[in-house]
Amino acid sequence: CGIVAAVGSNNVIPLLIDGLKKLEYRGYDSTGIGYITALGDVGTERSLERVAQLEAQILAKHLEATVGIAHTRWATHGAPALRNAHPMTSNSEGVSLCLVHNGIIENFEEIKAELLAAGYTFTSDTDTEVMTHLIHQYCVGGLDLYEAVFTATKRLKGLYAIAVMRADEPHRIIGARQGAPMLIGVGERGNYIASDTAALLSETRDVIYLEEGDVVEITVDSHRIRTAAGEFVERTIHTSELSA
Ligand code: GLU
Repeated sequence: CGIVAAVGSNNVIPLLIDGLKKLEYRGYDSTGIGYITALGDVGTERSLERVAQLEAQILAKHLEATVGIAHTRWATHGAPALRNAHPMTSNSEGVSLCLVHNGIIENFEEIKAELLAAGYTFTSDTDTEVMTHLIHQYCVGGLDLYEAVFTATKRLKGLYAIAVMRADEPHRIIGARQGAPMLIGVGERGNYIASDTAALLSETRDVIYLEEGDVVEITVDSHRIRTAAGEFVERTIHTSELSA
């Protein structure tokens, strides 16, 4: 339903929580945050309560991270339940991934059957977990995260906006969109991905609206946009006039 993701020069957890609060008005049944720890592991916190509850849960653990992804879920596949809340993770064979998703993957059953045959186990009933393991499988096959997400988009049918992180590539977040809104926020203290400009206004007004099939990378001081055809392109930065 809603996505906000950040790579910052400082702790991005407060910004992610603030972004989730801005997305709350859309409605949701669960919410969660994924982050990369100082030790280079992927961590997640998820809740079936309000964003304020998730915030309390996170504050109690004194979590800090410079790379993180956050989500509000509106269930389409799998009941509203903690095991179905995003982020979804895939962690085996030395590759650890964490992903949030808006939308619906139409051919998830066919891909799930292949992944089950390949030995993947599922902890949720979501289409999102299928996509997470698919990208993981491409990473285990030797692709870096950017290439793995690009390759996965060629197999996925349906509507999606995603943000994904890989523990052993802790400097970046990869995003992709097809039929669901997503934009890049260009900031002074980092770069961002969100489903809605409102989620970023406390940090930046400079946004790049992504096009169908785009696969993007953000780091603390850069962004790259790759079209569905595989070309890297520059896009105009717009200054949002929305008030915070
Ligand atoms: N299809 C996904 C799920 O049910 C994402 C739903 C959403 O857009 O929040 O988990």
